[in-house]
Amino acid sequence: MNKAAMKRNKEDSTNVSAEVLMQTRRISKAEYFLRLLFPARCICCDRILPFDIPLEICDECKKDIRFLRNFEHIFPAGSNIRKVYSAFEYEGNVREAIHRLKFGETPHNASVLVDLSFPFLESFLKNETFKSVMKYDIIIPTPLHPRRKRQRGYNQSELIASRLSYHMNVPALKGVLVKKINTPPQSRLGRGERLINLVGVFSVKKPGLVKGRRILLVDDIMTTGSTLEHCAKALKNAGAAYIDAYVVAIRHRS
Ligand SMILES: [Zn+2]
Repeated sequence: MNKAAMKRNKEDSTNVSAEVLMQTRRISKAEYFLRLLFPARCICCDRILPFDIPLEICDECKKDIRFLRNFEHIFPAGSNIRKVYSAFEYEGNVREAIHRLKFGETPHNASVLVDLSFPFLESFLKNETFKSVMKYDIIIPTPLHPRRKRQRGYNQSELIASRLSYHMNVPALKGVLVKKINTPPQSRLGRGERLINLVGVFSVKKPGLVKGRRILLVDDIMTTGSTLEHCAKALKNAGAAYIDAYVVAIRHRS
């Protein structure tokens, strides 16, 4: 077979598989053309993915995801947070995908991580009596200081919140909870320093939007829970009814 014929053959097989994919609705027409131009890559290991994988993670990485033993974590009495929901350990592939989201300029990883974890958490986020209704009025992302957000180009918690908003049909509000002081990253501090690093750095800019609301606070990772707790404190002071949280992964420090 000459080169031109081989090329034609290759194009034909691409078109056939795309047709099948679109017919079976595994990917939309728009996504098909996007994938032709920009092949999808695994959010964990960065390899180029076969055409027909609906989520952007390769099968090997997906198989190796480490799940938490419990998806619901109850905070101690007296905390401003009631419960935290999370499906994944901050280990291995999920850790890699979150690291890329924060430092690798791959904002799209946020939606894929939410798409991967949401099915495991959906039942927890719903009203106990009316399962078709979510038990939250608004979703609020943990804020970055404006300078940090400018450096990164985005706030990953806002991206996570907006994908959750899509799945839950609950509005995600940006700019309601703000970070007034640019503190050193919690990950660089010891446990004692973490506890005082965030005192008084979060505030609610539009208390009218928070008062009496049932809030789902959103972050990428939880380690000691002090970021969530300080954010929740500001929301509670502004009159929130209650605050639970969703995080992509929980990090257990040794
Ligand atoms: Zn992979």
